[in-house]
Amino acid sequence: MRPALPEPFYARCIADPPRFAPLEGTHEADLVVVGGGFTGLSAALAAAEAGRSVVLLEAGRLAAGASGRNGGQLHSGQRQDVLWLETHFGYGRALALWRFGEAAKAHVLGLIDRFGIECNLQRGLIHALHKPGLVIEAKEHVEALGDRYSYPVEYLGREETAAALGSRAYFGAIRDPGGAHLDPLRLAHGLARAAVSAGAALHEESAATALSRHGAGPLVRTARGEVRARHVIVATNGRSNGLERATRRRTLGINSYMVATEPLGPLGDTILPGGEGASDSRFVVRYWRKLADGRLTFGGGESNAGRIPSDIRSFVLPHLLDVYPQLKDVGIAHAWGGIVTVTKPRLPFVREIAPQVWAAAGFSGQGVGLAPYVGRLLVERLHGRGGELDLYTRLHIPPLPSSTWMRRALVSLAIWYGRLGD
Ligand SMILES: Cc1cc2nc3c(=O)[nH]c(=O)nc-3n(C[C@H](O)[C@H](O)[C@H](O)COP(=O)(O)OP(=O)(O)OC[C@H]3O[C@@H](n4cnc5c(N)ncnc54)[C@H](O)[C@@H]3O)c2cc1C
Repeated sequence: MRPALPEPFYARCIADPPRFAPLEGTHEADLVVVGGGFTGLSAALAAAEAGRSVVLLEAGRLAAGASGRNGGQLHSGQRQDVLWLETHFGYGRALALWRFGEAAKAHVLGLIDRFGIECNLQRGLIHALHKPGLVIEAKEHVEALGDRYSYPVEYLGREETAAALGSRAYFGAIRDPGGAHLDPLRLAHGLARAAVSAGAALHEESAATALSRHGAGPLVRTARGEVRARHVIVATNGRSNGLERATRRRTLGINSYMVATEPLGPLGDTILPGGEGASDSRFVVRYWRKLADGRLTFGGGESNAGRIPSDIRSFVLPHLLDVYPQLKDVGIAHAWGGIVTVTKPRLPFVREIAPQVWAAAGFSGQGVGLAPYVGRLLVERLHGRGGELDLYTRLHIPPLPSSTWMRRALVSLAIWYGRLGD
């Protein structure tokens, strides 16, 4: 076992990442954003565009967390599908939550378009069924989306699925032409550049170490500086190193691991020939897509946040070869991992956690679309708008055990139990 997660493959492909100096000295701002992932960068951009003074503090490099290391799939709706949402909340709220997810997707696509962010965006996602018993529910899901949500997706039978994926490992699939996939680190860098152009001050290597009060407003401290603000947005994805406890209590971190292959050449021609990204129905989900140069990135295998495999490529490879045995001789260029932060209901925790301090965390594997949108809505909420956010602020997100040992045990147990079901 080794202590730290390696950098993502995406970082190796970017020659000129933006760099920002650490915060030094005493400053004042309308808004301090803590955390430089999708939530924080989008919030900083929205606030700067609205003419507010913004300071963003990132503990490491921008998008050092999940935003720069993920599978890059821009999903439709929420992490929970509409049938689950209807069962738990009724059709009206399910529809509102679905529309929220769609607005989030449109928001990201709009940002990419408006700022000309080159992040290798490609349309289409395939959700593959790993057990025959899932086919009936998948067909109901397709029907519900078309009939009650006016969102046509396509059911693929076993042979069509094999052709669409280049794999015979699945029993059927849903093709979502409105989903998309992209290079997440490039997206984060694009948002950072847009935020800076709009006037935001970004600081890397500037972990917020304390959150207290100064007169009527919050005060955020780092090792070498401090900012007095009117508002603070904590966008640390539930992992702020003791800065606050509200988001940590409601989220759990699950390590998910990925590899990038060497370019596949002609062997890759039959894999995802339609250019979609893919994921499957397993509890320990597998997700993959091809990059512009013909490599495959593949995610598979999870562990609790305290247990990083010493050889991540060997950890992920069996999952990849299970889906694509034809790749047994293909080289693995790089392996890495990231922490997926989940809540119990797999819907995000968004709250005002102290006067003038808001936080969002736990996008549960759906943050490529949802996190930037929530970042923007949080800024609107600070100024009396952003009413859609109530869909999240009113959700009951139960607290989880606070002891690290218990939390890791819970994750290990969930993975073990989930794998049994898989
Ligand atoms: C391997 C993997 C695959 C995934 N695949 C997908 C996918 O395909 N599609 C999808 O929608 N979602 C996916 N996700 C989830 C998605 O990446 C997240 O939901 C999303 O990036 C969350 O963004 P965020 O800004 O809230 O958090 P993060 O990106 O985690 O950002 C939080 C930031 O806060 C910083 N920070 C923490 N503490 C402090 C502090 N005290 N001071 C300053 N900064 C601090 C961290 O360094 C970090 O950069 C995946 C996640 C992982 C790990």
